[in-house]
Amino acid sequence: MQAYEILLLIGGGIVLLVLLLAARNAVHFYRHEQFVCPTCSYPFRPRLRKYLFAPNAAGGKILTCPNCGAKEYMEPQKRDNTR
Ligand SMILES: [Zn+2]
Repeated sequence: MQAYEILLLIGGGIVLLVLLLAARNAVHFYRHEQFVCPTCSYPFRPRLRKYLFAPNAAGGKILTCPNCGAKEYMEPQKRDNTR
């Protein structure tokens, strides 16, 4: 096996791992969490594509509120599953 083949394998492995972690995060989020708009307190879950590609900041994301349209930094919060 050539050196570049090994590098390709390692690179592919890292990409796969990152994708798996992102998928696991997304599944966890959609099962247990939601974002709450800091401007109008509207709780929401963004579309999966928006969730995955929204800019990350610390533990949260920069998202646009579907209720009031504010583009804010939001952190995921536990959803109460009693409803
Ligand atoms: Zn809002």
